[in-house]
Amino acid sequence: MDDCIFCDILAGQAEASFVAGDERVVAFADILPIGEGHTLVIPRRHAIGLHDLDPEDGAAMFRLGQRIAAAQRRLGLAEGVNLFLADGVVAGQEVFHAHLHVLPRQDGDALTLSVDYAPAPSRDALDTTAARLRDALEHTGG
Ligand code: AMP
Ligand code: ZN
Repeated sequence: MDDCIFCDILAGQAEASFVAGDERVVAFADILPIGEGHTLVIPRRHAIGLHDLDPEDGAAMFRLGQRIAAAQRRLGLAEGVNLFLADGVVAGQEVFHAHLHVLPRQDGDALTLSVDYAPAPSRDALDTTAARLRDALEHTGG
């Protein structure tokens, strides 16, 4: 893929600090870490986001992310871990080659996740939305 920094890394045309990899996925250090050990897991096959990501590549990303999270904890780099994938600009995606962040969390670290909650919806509203999603999943074979 032209003009993709992560494809350049995979092709050896841009530098990276590699952590692990297999036939489907590769993990390397985030260049601007939220904390020591912050790692990205990407598919070897270019995909922009969830819509074009091979589900088997997605599964491999999660599997490797889970192992890296355990390694971060073993090394004392993480008291907790967030797995994070930004799919789309509105979700905060800045690099358009799918990637899973493995974020090592420490008490008082620099990362904050905040939500301005609306009042909790009624059970009816939850049921209605759940039914819409069930229907959508049936019609996409998901
Ligand atoms: P986002 O698309 O918002 O999920 O985040 C993109 C992430 O990629 C950021 O955390 C960047 O620091 C990271 N990043 C961008 N370029 C590179 C690079 N050349 N090597 C490693 N990480 C990178
Ligand atoms: Zn790419």
